[in-house]
Amino acid sequence: MKKILIANRGEIAIRIAKTAKKMGIKTVGIKGNIEPTALYLSYVDEIYDNSEKVTSIPVFLDVDRLIEIAKETGAEAIHPGYGFLSENPYFAQKCANQNIIFIGPSPDAIYKMGNKTIARRIAHQNNIPMVDGSKGAVGSVEEANRVVSRIGLPIIIKAASGGGGRGMRIVRDLQDLEKSFQIASNEALKAFNDPTVFIEKYIENPKHIEFQILGDTFGNIVHLGERECSIQRKNQKLLEEAPSSAVDNELREKMSAVAIQIAKAVNYYSVGTVEFLLDSNKNFYFMEMNTRIQVEHPVTEAITGINLIEQQINVADGKAIPFKQEDITLKGAAIECRINSEDVQNGFIPSTGRIENLVFPTDENIRVDSGIKEGSTISTGFDSMIAKLIVKGPTRDETIKKCLEVLDEVCITGVKTTIPFFKVLLNNENFLSGNFTTSFVEKDLDKYFLSSETDETIAAWLATKSFYEENLSDNDVNFDQGKELSPWLQNRRSKQFDF
Ligand code: ADP
Ligand code: ADP
Ligand code: MG
Repeated sequence: MKKILIANRGEIAIRIAKTAKKMGIKTVGIKGNIEPTALYLSYVDEIYDNSEKVTSIPVFLDVDRLIEIAKETGAEAIHPGYGFLSENPYFAQKCANQNIIFIGPSPDAIYKMGNKTIARRIAHQNNIPMVDGSKGAVGSVEEANRVVSRIGLPIIIKAASGGGGRGMRIVRDLQDLEKSFQIASNEALKAFNDPTVFIEKYIENPKHIEFQILGDTFGNIVHLGERECSIQRKNQKLLEEAPSSAVDNELREKMSAVAIQIAKAVNYYSVGTVEFLLDSNKNFYFMEMNTRIQVEHPVTEAITGINLIEQQINVADGKAIPFKQEDITLKGAAIECRINSEDVQNGFIPSTGRIENLVFPTDENIRVDSGIKEGSTISTGFDSMIAKLIVKGPTRDETIKKCLEVLDEVCITGVKTTIPFFKVLLNNENFLSGNFTTSFVEKDLDKYFLSSETDETIAAWLATKSFYEENLSDNDVNFDQGKELSPWLQNRRSKQFDF
């Protein structure tokens, strides 16, 4: 492999470009009309100027255009990053048909794991532990009622094509079932172009534990340990850490074996993540598999010393994984804070503006992955994540302490960020002792931060949805739960590409 087209933007585009450079592989970045001066363009070897092209969808979602650009620039491979087309089986297949290497797993594996109802079926066939739920898609309120009478409340209604914590509704009271069903499928349609929903038993107060998998095309699959992502708000991750304080060696053995088993069931190669819920009795349940590099992959890199993008590129290039399971050791601890341009005091609503100052301290235990620079304008057109701060240390306690010190030195002005949230979190006794679950932020921390998003505002929005759809310009149609939904999430596992 000599040249890679990076079909993404922001921090992940820079992340890929840096590793490619280290490997002696050239990169092509795409300049679009929305952010023609973006930072990632200064990290690539070649810029393809697409800013003059007027199209109905962003170039990073435009399958045919991306393939044309790869051909025109002589790139033999495309790296999709995360979001956008990274989990789109049609795109992966189309690349293969055009003799372009898609840096990711097979279209078949993406297809099977990208659809949560298919993934659940495969998991079931392989005796993978899973929460009780509907056998497949639930098409009507009547059907939802039947599932509920079988498995009992509470339940969670989820989008089959979902991602990024969107399109999910918890139901605790039967009388809310109908409304929640409608809201969930409307939201799923809007966000993922697919209204299909399914039902799972809702596990109260679980931890979110996920395993990093790496496979090659020779059938080798290893795991690189777990990450804990229980610090979430509205089902979206805010902070991730590795290893998890809730996982001992015995549990790690068990969970990783299941993660590898499910990966093998779809002949998985490339990097991937198997997500589980873990309850207080150490029972764990398969939730979903993400068939791409994940946002939080740096914490795994920090404790294993393995560069996941390098491995992903090598596997795509037909090479075998150069180490065995027993060669992988987990050393120390690492934490990632997702620094979003959001106003935490105001229900985490997006904060926009021009970045005036951007200063991060540096040393060998600090890593900052960011796609912005001083002078960058933060708009609602893209995701609100502006930087990832990754800190490592010999133990969890020391890493937390170090992370707090680093956060005190970070200076970002021009937009509001989630930094105040992390300062509260990292000082919290329960966080320090590992005594927290996915409901922790909403239950114990939200009192520090006012919330403006309620079910009523969402319901009101749905009532006027068609009004918005008719009256907003193309750039504005990303309305979701009072937040702008960035284009990368739209069409992410789009039905329009069903085959
Ligand atoms: P996404 O594709 O949006 O990441 P997931 O299926 O991974 O969706 O779920 C996202 C989050 O929602 C989980 O990390 C967890 O906090 C919560 N969640 C999902 N399913 C359940 C469930 N059955 N019980 C409790 N919480 C759940
Ligand atoms: P992961 O499972 O890797 O954490 P999710 O599907 O939960 O990924 O997405 C999490 C978050 O990652 C999003 O809410 C957003 O903040 C960020 N994100 C994902 N893709 C992109 C992208 N292409 N550009 C910018 N931010 C992204
Ligand atoms: Mg998930």
